[in-house]
Amino acid sequence: MLEPEIRRLIREETRFRTGLGFDVHRLAEGRRLILGGVEIPWERGLEGHSDADVLAHAVMDALLGAAALPDIGVHFPDTDPRWKGADSLELAAAVADLVRQKGYEIEGVDAMILAERPKLSPHFPDMQANLARALKVRPDQVGVKATTTERMGFPGRGEGMAAMASALLRARTP
Ligand code: MG
Repeated sequence: MLEPEIRRLIREETRFRTGLGFDVHRLAEGRRLILGGVEIPWERGLEGHSDADVLAHAVMDALLGAAALPDIGVHFPDTDPRWKGADSLELAAAVADLVRQKGYEIEGVDAMILAERPKLSPHFPDMQANLARALKVRPDQVGVKATTTERMGFPGRGEGMAAMASALLRARTP
């Protein structure tokens, strides 16, 4: 039988938290397409106050959610001129700092982009490397995937792109 104190410490050591994130941006002419910090040459790009990196935004909200912190709209409001044209990877680095300040380590994130075109898989390694650098984790702790929506709905019609993400945090022992 383990002593109650040791039981408590084991429980603390293995305290995990999950979070989820979701984001959508509209596609527009004359905008750059930036996903996971990678600029992808294409005829249109995502519209938004920042660089509209829908993948980074979903990952950030997953991390914030896992730490029970407010969403990115609260931290980086689109009415604030400071975030106009912002590099979302810099915002992601700030989010990772907030999560660590609250006492958590990032175990991993996973994300899924919903987009009909262009083909994104050749860019996954660069997206993983960029997100990992911003979050100060290894690339193998960052999953990036994509799917079409079979030409249905707003991603399928090419009106926009969406991304969803999950994050797993581990509480640091006091
Ligand atoms: Mg967004």
